[in-house]
Amino acid sequence: MIAEVIVDLSNESVDKIFDYKAIEGLQKGQMVRVPFGNKVIEGFCIRLKDSTDVPADKLKSVFDIITPEPVIKQNLFELANYMKTAYHLRMVDILRLFLPAEMRGGRVHEKVQNFVVLVDAYKQNDAAVDIRKNAYQQHNLLCYMRANPVADYTKVCQTFSRGAVTALQQKGVIKVVEKFVDRRPKVYDVEAKNVKLTETQQQVLNAIFANKGGKFLLHGVTGSGKTEIYTRVIEDCLKNNKTAIMLVPEISLTGQVMANLTSRFGDSVAILHSGLSSGERYDEWQRLRSGKAKIAVGVRSAIFVPLENIGAIIIDEEHDSSYVSESNPRYNTHEVAEFRASLDGATFILGSATPSLETYQRAVNGELQLLTMTERVNKHNMPKIYIVDMCAEVSRGNTSPFSYKFQDELQKCVEAKNQAIVFINRRGYSSFMRCTECGYVAKCTDCDVSLVLHKEDNQLKCHFCGKRFKVLTKCPLCGSDKIRQGAIGTQRVVEELKKAFPNVPIFRMDNDTTKKKNSHIEILRDFAQHKPSILVGTQMVAKGHDFPDVSFVGIIDADMSLHFSDFRSNERTYQLITQVAGRSGRADKEGIVVLQTYSPKHFVYRKAVENDYKGFFEKEINLRAVTNFPPFSKMVRLLFVGDDELRIKENLSSVYFKVKDLLKNYGSDVYYLEAMNSPVKRIQNKFRYQILMRYKTALHNEIIQKIYSIVDQNKDKKVSIFVEINQQNLS
Ligand code: ADP
Ligand code: ZN
Ligand code: ZN
Repeated sequence: MIAEVIVDLSNESVDKIFDYKAIEGLQKGQMVRVPFGNKVIEGFCIRLKDSTDVPADKLKSVFDIITPEPVIKQNLFELANYMKTAYHLRMVDILRLFLPAEMRGGRVHEKVQNFVVLVDAYKQNDAAVDIRKNAYQQHNLLCYMRANPVADYTKVCQTFSRGAVTALQQKGVIKVVEKFVDRRPKVYDVEAKNVKLTETQQQVLNAIFANKGGKFLLHGVTGSGKTEIYTRVIEDCLKNNKTAIMLVPEISLTGQVMANLTSRFGDSVAILHSGLSSGERYDEWQRLRSGKAKIAVGVRSAIFVPLENIGAIIIDEEHDSSYVSESNPRYNTHEVAEFRASLDGATFILGSATPSLETYQRAVNGELQLLTMTERVNKHNMPKIYIVDMCAEVSRGNTSPFSYKFQDELQKCVEAKNQAIVFINRRGYSSFMRCTECGYVAKCTDCDVSLVLHKEDNQLKCHFCGKRFKVLTKCPLCGSDKIRQGAIGTQRVVEELKKAFPNVPIFRMDNDTTKKKNSHIEILRDFAQHKPSILVGTQMVAKGHDFPDVSFVGIIDADMSLHFSDFRSNERTYQLITQVAGRSGRADKEGIVVLQTYSPKHFVYRKAVENDYKGFFEKEINLRAVTNFPPFSKMVRLLFVGDDELRIKENLSSVYFKVKDLLKNYGSDVYYLEAMNSPVKRIQNKFRYQILMRYKTALHNEIIQKIYSIVDQNKDKKVSIFVEINQQNLS
């Protein structure tokens, strides 16, 4: 037998299949070690076949097998082939997605723990054991073991002394054995709720069950009980001996969504997110592979879990930008999930209170069955949103970051011993430091971006590469000490709120405060335990949390995402406002939202206030149609990155002319093509250039393959070219 092997090297030149002589017992999907050059390296056996073109004297043999069983199952090979074609990825990069990183290189192993076990013959209470009368510890231990025949060794030793354990062990009464234990991730504790479905929920569920294997968009306002729908769908999968995958944005995992699922399904759920330790991730993955766990809940990479016979794939908060991978390997989770669902005939559900325009348009076109829930479970009104014109505020003499309305409502909320969430989409203290004399702005030396002041550690930080710099007291250009700070961030908001509400606990949740493992959970738990209290945070506070006592939400600067020069900025802003606002008034309390803006008349705000997603959609989709932006076009970016600017430019122009030649053939179906600097010209000392294009969506499959081959022709060790499709973030 011949084994086709993909070697586990991330070197551009070896994206190839190598043939080796198979060894006894080798199966497709196992990891192996193979001789390669003068080394032995790891690889994946992706196929077994009878013959090879490699001459017998050149054919080497597989060295050994690493994994006792196949770790990549058949359905994932099909997925890999799909991804290879759609995204032009190297096979080894795809296969790596399918395994926990810890699996490769044998870096993590099962955790072994010692247990004390009572020997059968001594289980009867009257079974004779020879223990001295005054050896109390031994008597007590025996008594304990009769009630608990298996117990943790360390704990038993602590309680009854190691001597007692050893004595009974020597008498043959107990045994000490090793067992594998699963390391389980921490989740927020809640009690399993047993709710009776509302009529709307029941109708939605009936529609899903009437069309199993179908594709759905569940559009339900925040608090409409979408999670309950997902739970019932998953329950139905288990009942029919099937498995399920549910994807959520990173941060929701620490929230109650996760806790609810775990309380309902216990050990059948495996959780996968970036906050796990490598041991936890490895064990959760193994539990899925071995069939102990049948439900995978996780961030986008959980779409690659080793489950078979999948009954449902659910993407919650489907509009979230984290579903598009922004670094290599780049892929679109929706597409991958939909393909995977089709392989197993699984029900495919996208859910959101604010669906992405692309997705909603698919529902309008009939590609997805639209299910709508317009009311909150508790029949309460959606939160009331007040728009505050900050220009007017300034002319009334208010120079604080908080409008009078904001201050009033927050005051009322605190007095009623409720909770408040204050949202500001910028971490740190202030956005930049600028010299008011000469206009100098402090910038990162490695990236072309301005630095952010972090007052707590009294440093300027680069949010792209993390590099730190000393705070400016004098302008390095003109020597002036008139240094001003730019727009405010989370730290500054906390500082100001502390002045105004010295006795109210204030918590901050942003990238800086959540670096440590489980810190999300801890911040949210602390927040939950204090009333009144205020939670200040970035986008992280917008997603998926369900705090019944939050009655006020303040949005400091709603315009921040509106004036981004990105075709999605209206959509993003609408989503963000609706999601943040949706944290308010979820239980039996009326929710109030104060939205501060300098463009109070903008239609996005009007639609958000009216809670009119459809109205927003119709207006925005028209704009997209007129301007030929997605979903009416595909937007492709070729990103060129490297150290040598001249070389990048040469490569860029060579690719550009080839692409131009190619797109000429499609006439007016090509809407845009341009080569230029990237918006951020340099990150971590690497130069960045781009070619941007847009063309009619229907042409995508044809054009993209031709673009891939142009990129291949221009391969250059010194210039990396990344192909991005409908990218979420163009920095
Ligand atoms: P969504 O995901 O749509 O924002 P959730 O699923 O979080 O909404 O539901 C909001 C709240 O309503 C949660 O606390 C949930 O436990 C509760 N809930 C959901 N369905 C019901 C029901 N049928 N009866 C009572 N409470 C429910
Ligand atoms: Zn200056
Ligand atoms: Zn930097």
